[in-house]
Amino acid sequence: MPETDTPAAHPRRRTRRAGQRVTQEPSSGAPHAGRRAGTAADPEPTPQTDETLLAAALAQASAHRFGDIEVPVTVARALERMGYETPTEVQARSIPPLRTGADLIGQAQTGTGKTAAFGIPIVEKIDPSASYVQALVLTPTRELCVQVTEEIARIGQFRNVKTVAIYGGSSMDRQISALRRGAQVVVGTPGRVLDLIRRGELRLDRVHTVILDEADRMLDMGFIVDVETILSRCPRQRQTALFSATMPYAILRICDRFMRRDATHIAVRPEMQTVESVRQLLYFVAEQDKVRALLELTEAFGFDRLLVFRHTQIGVDRLAATLKRRGQNVAALHGGLSQRERDRTLADFKAGRIQFLVATNVASRGLDITDLPYVLNYDIPEDADTYVHRIGRTGRMGKAGTAITFVGEWDLDAWEAIRSQVKAPIEEGELRLYGTA
Ligand code: AMP
Repeated sequence: MPETDTPAAHPRRRTRRAGQRVTQEPSSGAPHAGRRAGTAADPEPTPQTDETLLAAALAQASAHRFGDIEVPVTVARALERMGYETPTEVQARSIPPLRTGADLIGQAQTGTGKTAAFGIPIVEKIDPSASYVQALVLTPTRELCVQVTEEIARIGQFRNVKTVAIYGGSSMDRQISALRRGAQVVVGTPGRVLDLIRRGELRLDRVHTVILDEADRMLDMGFIVDVETILSRCPRQRQTALFSATMPYAILRICDRFMRRDATHIAVRPEMQTVESVRQLLYFVAEQDKVRALLELTEAFGFDRLLVFRHTQIGVDRLAATLKRRGQNVAALHGGLSQRERDRTLADFKAGRIQFLVATNVASRGLDITDLPYVLNYDIPEDADTYVHRIGRTGRMGKAGTAITFVGEWDLDAWEAIRSQVKAPIEEGELRLYGTA
């Protein structure tokens, strides 16, 4: 049963109970038994009514801690269930300003905990008894959209917050009926969100919070005009937060046009530069030997689950087919598959029902696959940024991980370019298939 953490819910009953607690405290042997709690430290004690004291006591009774941050008991219970004990850097730095209603520009990428950084303040602010949309989160990809929806739903599970995912490639009817049932938080990709606004199914006129998640990716994917149109449909009196791994000029312009001048700026260093838990391994292996190398390493490392990256959809399908022929438990993930197939494959991989997931870059950004100990760059990443994003799928949130990269005979220049930009140490491994053992 959802419980409420709004003190106003049962003012009478709660007031009486909390009142008893406050009057009991000072008499429990404290030297200033006559003084009221809360006033002793005030330099200029303002006369406090019973009501203000009771309100303070109530706030305390209903507040719990998440590291240094106080959260309502319902949120605390959810975070505990999610295994979040202390805030990550982006959470510690974003939650306090977001709570004050400030706009926020956060330079942070996936893996830093940015979803809960905006998810916690959203959940706190939602009125679960009202059935209109109060918060909107825009994400570049369907995968990220689903992940963010799940995360906010988890944080809001004891507050009865209804969160709906709106993305293309999936049944519009289902999304429309979810909206009609009354969603308070909508997480969506710009194209579908705009579509539903135009059909009159999504109304944003009472939205008080808008989040632009992975804004630079939305820019790369050509969504920026849609984003601007959506923003111009939201009330002017609102809070806007923008998260982006990079801050190109076009993003700064969006901030300029659609956010308040006094927005809070924060920059959280990419996880890869702060987390030392990813072991980076490199193997020089000829193109034609890569399958054998993969199987040799599978034996050596005993991969339970391995995320394998390739450049192209054809490459992904070919490698998945080869591994399948060799009796491996493997699935492919790329943009050429239907949304339903992608969702199912990802769920199977997350649940451990698939050992090898061969994917294109679609899977490398924004995916929240926790406890992923190994990733393999079967093809060399295009650049250092992609390399960092890919290996960022492992060793997240301080968990140990290993990122392996195959460098083929045609990849030496590309590898040099990446190597010169990645500061962390990279070990070179040896393969038995080359008789090095
Ligand atoms: P995000 O950057 O929001 O995609 O989060 C990256 C990963 O960190 C996800 O798997 C989250 O579930 C996890 N996470 C976020 N915040 C915390 C926290 N405070 N404690 C532990 N794990 C967290």
